[in-house]
Amino acid sequence: MATKYPSVFDFGGQNMATKLGIIGAGTMGRGIAEVGLLHGFFVTILDATAELSERGYGEIERSLRRGVEKGRVVPEKVGEMLARLRHGADYDLLKEADVVIEAVYEDLEVKKEVLSKVSRVVSPRALIGSNTSSLSITKMSEAVEYPERFLGIHFFNPVPVMRLVEVIRGERTSDDTVEKALTFARELGKTPIAVKESPGFVVNRLLCPMMNEAAFLVMERVASPEDIDTAMKLGANHPIGPLALADLVGIDVLYAIMNTLYLELDDPKYRPCPLLKEMIDRGHLGRKTGQGFFLYGENPKS
Ligand code: NAD
Repeated sequence: MATKYPSVFDFGGQNMATKLGIIGAGTMGRGIAEVGLLHGFFVTILDATAELSERGYGEIERSLRRGVEKGRVVPEKVGEMLARLRHGADYDLLKEADVVIEAVYEDLEVKKEVLSKVSRVVSPRALIGSNTSSLSITKMSEAVEYPERFLGIHFFNPVPVMRLVEVIRGERTSDDTVEKALTFARELGKTPIAVKESPGFVVNRLLCPMMNEAAFLVMERVASPEDIDTAMKLGANHPIGPLALADLVGIDVLYAIMNTLYLELDDPKYRPCPLLKEMIDRGHLGRKTGQGFFLYGENPKS
């Protein structure tokens, strides 16, 4: 397919991207940064303020040191990796980036503002991706100059551990861009899959209805939460039961995703389980509040 932007991406004449820019130094942005460092990229991470990006830098450093303790990171490499990591709040730091990924709040207007700033500073050759879990790539692309080079690059939490990346094509994304994003994900040691824009993409479209159905089983008292999780661990070989997973994801997040599937796909089979709403009203949001389908101890986040 012919592209309107100045040239097919060649990452400045090299086969590989080397400079990765990330906006949002939260859970996902930090994880993507860490994986970039582990795979030889020069990484720049921005947040809304210098203080927030500084905090993100500190968390990445701590995570790399934890990686050393767990044998995931070679101790001698930590200093060298940190030397490849820059942080700040100034978009000019992204000027040289080959690939930029936004991982800011899941809010269309916030993301569009960030994307418009990014596309004004980076080269027209740069690949621009969003880590959105649910928003429309096509709507976001309205904020991007040369929207052909924009798409979804959806990582999973925790990023250093989870091997999948969903590469999501919006209506205006070019074939070149999809190919380049697939290559980029492989350069990060991930296994990418190509997905057409659609609510929940692949993983959440499959996983969330399963967790929702498990909530219906609890509500209808078909089995206890413990037994439902045991059933899927021993009967389907899942590493974690659907209810423990719902607690990990957050009951509020699960409810929001089910509502999106229900409304956007306009199909009653995605009706969110009423028990989820009751749990939200009671403040039982899962691990983050210490109670969901299960109870968690003193330090629920651990
Ligand atoms: P988070 O709240 O941990 O981090 C978001 C970061 O973005 C914060 O540090 C915040 O200060 C920063 N930010 C907000 N507005 C900004 C702006 N205008 N400019 C610069 N920085 C700004 O969120 P997260 O869990 O890392 O999620 C980020 C994105 O990744 C969301 O789109 C989310 O849907 C998606 N996602 C999350 C998960 C998950 O499990 N947490 C999984 C896959 C995808």
